[in-house]
Amino acid sequence: MIFQPDMKQAVIKRTARKFAEERIAPAAAEMDATGRFPADLAAEMAGLQYFGLEIPPEYGGAGLNSVSYADVIEEVSRASAAMGLCISVHNSVAASPIYEFGGEFQRQRFLIPVARGEKIGTFCLTEPNAGSDASSLETVAARDGDGYVLNGNKIFVTNGGVSGTNLIFACTNPSRERKEYAVFIVESERDGVEKGPVEDMMGMRGNPVCPITLSDCRIPQENRLGEEGQGMKIALSTLGGGRIGIGAQALGIAQACLDVSVKYSKERHQFGKSLSEFAAIQGFLSDMATRIEAARLLIYRASHLRAAKLPHTAESAMAKLYASEVAVYASRVGVQIHGGYGYTKAYPIERYYRDAKVCEIYEGTSEIQRMVIARSLMGR
Ligand SMILES: Cc1cc2nc3c(=O)[nH]c(=O)nc-3n(C[C@H](O)[C@H](O)[C@H](O)COP(=O)(O)OP(=O)(O)OC[C@H]3O[C@@H](n4cnc5c(N)ncnc54)[C@H](O)[C@@H]3O)c2cc1C
Repeated sequence: MIFQPDMKQAVIKRTARKFAEERIAPAAAEMDATGRFPADLAAEMAGLQYFGLEIPPEYGGAGLNSVSYADVIEEVSRASAAMGLCISVHNSVAASPIYEFGGEFQRQRFLIPVARGEKIGTFCLTEPNAGSDASSLETVAARDGDGYVLNGNKIFVTNGGVSGTNLIFACTNPSRERKEYAVFIVESERDGVEKGPVEDMMGMRGNPVCPITLSDCRIPQENRLGEEGQGMKIALSTLGGGRIGIGAQALGIAQACLDVSVKYSKERHQFGKSLSEFAAIQGFLSDMATRIEAARLLIYRASHLRAAKLPHTAESAMAKLYASEVAVYASRVGVQIHGGYGYTKAYPIERYYRDAKVCEIYEGTSEIQRMVIARSLMGR
């Protein structure tokens, strides 16, 4: 068992940290305050191949393994969770399924611009009446000649406001008792695609999360990813990898909380001493550091399994579950260490506190992750 990154992994992580600290971090507070998605930064990230992290070079990607993919998402999220969310969703639940389930035509036509960051990707599963229970989705794909007509409402679409390529999950036999689903690659400029206003969210501000409505949207058969009836299989297998990304994102937020809390505890003096000299504060920092390290090991373990193409559903769920809870814990304790100043916008810890919470909600809530883990324990 080797706990050291190899030379290539170390360079990729170091480069991502430098870029994130120098280019992303200075823009993070403004993104949060205005909700503006920084297209210029996204273009720089595309130049570094951060929109095609695991996609092979022949399809426009960087061809990195799952460990480096997690490292890049962690470092970007440490600077800005909203930008970390952008590349996590784009890579793991938009680019990756097109590569894994797409034919050569789809890889050439849709994957290459996505992997190059020319088109930003989305994953549209959630609907007003279908959240944790994705199989209750109501979007319909009706056969129409050599294609389909899509009708339905998708909500909470990460990257939606700036997306070019959307993966839409729809039911192909709504009148049957045993429902079947399929996934469609839907270009944003297609007739019948309408984007709603960007959500006014608690955190992750700067990521244009919005609804997407499909009204009599005609899709050729060549845009269907995989077969009819494979939709839920594609969704579940994609989310298995996606959860490593959200775990890495949570880890980046937690690490940022620790970094600013150590710094603040050394700077702030009370009772003639720095906060860092108080045993209570040292206890907070030690617990944060220990939990962060444990989360990182869970993420590396799930990433290694994914890189080796071994089953990793339960391990990804554990990594996502634990890292999300560590991010929420670290941000809460971080605010405590900052005292009253932690409750103001003078320090970034209040942003981390707001950003962290959603990691326990999207790509499967913590309750759903526990269900996934329990199922594997029961051998189901
Ligand atoms: C910022 C943001 C970005 C998002 N991005 C995307 C995206 O890009 N694509 C996408 O498809 N979706 C996205 N989502 C949606 C997200 O995945 C859902 O919000 C999430 O799956 C939960 O669904 P829900 O909100 O409908 O909650 P519900 O399913 O209504 O759950 C409400 C509560 O009930 C609990 N619960 C539900 N069922 C059970 C059960 N069986 N046992 C125990 N407890 C249960 C949940 O854990 C939760 O606590 C995003 C959400 C947010 C907030």
